[in-house]
Amino acid sequence: MRYKKYFLPTLKDAPSEAEIISHKLMIRSGMVKQSSAGIYSWLPLGFRVLKKIEKIVREEQVKSGAIEILMPTIQSADIWIKSGRYDDYGKEMLRIKDRAGRDMLYGPTNEELVTEIFKSYISSYKDLPKNLFHIQWKFRDEIRPRFGVMRGKEFLMKDNYSFDLNFDAAKESYNNMFRCYLRTFLRLGLTPIALKAESGAIGGNLSHEFQILAQTGESTLYYDKKLENIDPSTADIEQLQKYYAAVDDEHDPKTCPVEKSQLKISKGIEVGHIFYFGTKYSEKLNAFVQTKSGSKIPVEMGSYGIGVSRLVGAIIEAYHDDKGIKWPKQLAPFFVSLINVNINDEKCNQVSEEIYNNLNHTNIDVLYDDRDVSLGVKLSDSDLIGIPFKIIIGPRDIKTNQVQIEERLTGKKFMLSINDAYNYITNEMKVFSNSDN
Ligand code: ATP
Ligand code: MG
Repeated sequence: MRYKKYFLPTLKDAPSEAEIISHKLMIRSGMVKQSSAGIYSWLPLGFRVLKKIEKIVREEQVKSGAIEILMPTIQSADIWIKSGRYDDYGKEMLRIKDRAGRDMLYGPTNEELVTEIFKSYISSYKDLPKNLFHIQWKFRDEIRPRFGVMRGKEFLMKDNYSFDLNFDAAKESYNNMFRCYLRTFLRLGLTPIALKAESGAIGGNLSHEFQILAQTGESTLYYDKKLENIDPSTADIEQLQKYYAAVDDEHDPKTCPVEKSQLKISKGIEVGHIFYFGTKYSEKLNAFVQTKSGSKIPVEMGSYGIGVSRLVGAIIEAYHDDKGIKWPKQLAPFFVSLINVNINDEKCNQVSEEIYNNLNHTNIDVLYDDRDVSLGVKLSDSDLIGIPFKIIIGPRDIKTNQVQIEERLTGKKFMLSINDAYNYITNEMKVFSNSDN
């Protein structure tokens, strides 16, 4: 992408209503624009990151056996009346009437709708288990939208729903999603902490929240340091639950099994939440399945949510410095910033174009800064928007065929020949693409 042709409106200052660093940086780097309280447009840079997060979330869902569908944002009130949640949900639900006067709503979650879909097509134990997911916008009329996309009214959620014949199978689905969540967050570069949670409005008796550590989080967490070292691809649920973690109102220093030196206290942001709720919805909405012996029983369900748009802010909370965002490579909107120091220098232009074309051919996302602005502005914009690598092409260096490489995450700077620079970047790209799978 050529910067001059692109749409990347960076700002020097953040608006005063932005309280936390991720919100400030998202606005300053031109990722989002607020359209009204808690509702945002995603500008090109923000949209790219949102899609990268979505892709990782999707891949991990598919790997764990969930099947993608897409349900609408607007739902009929009827099914919510049947489940009993139409009144319970209260003012967070955005209620709408269509032209015929029918009560509709903008979905805050999808248990009812997915149960309706399930029961229309599946009625036998032979077709179980099933696990359906979608990645769709939700609306909750939050009383206090804040922190930018982290607590919005309209937000993107990945939600999935498991359907099983009995409790044991449902528990297995739950544990499977538990592991899937840990893997997902690790792939996003985050340290997930799983905590037993109250299941709240969605209801039920087994629930975990997934929190990531961040100073600006809304919850206080107490946990065993060892949790940070668990490899979820090899860990089982028992092992994961062996280590202590609690939110502050559940933490009691008298009964806490963790030694003081092993106990960590930190703030957390909730990025995911999973629930097992049994037959709560299937009974109310009549989703019954036939067992092997011929009897009909309500299907066992669980639901699982990840805040995809919240993650954009949460990840910035974990990856930034005083210059701006420091994207983990797998999420960066561009992998390389190609900085042409002097657009009036023929050699600089020629080498920049050459590197630009080569990187494009290798499918490496490159932002070519071809603007007629000072080097200082180019460098600080690149730092602000958090691109992992810079290739800097300056008139003096280029006389000896050298370019400078800068790494955003480590701050490392070094000179390489043009050829080695290209190889270095393609190699970095390979290293991180391989580690994804
Ligand atoms: P919270 O306690 O933060 O309000 P919740 O318990 O209401 O979250 P769930 O209903 O479990 O959230 O939704 C699943 C996920 O969706 C949450 O873990 C969170 O990451 C995300 N989420 C929920 N509400 C919002 C919101 N207002 N803005 C952005 N993301 C949200
Ligand atoms: Mg909520």
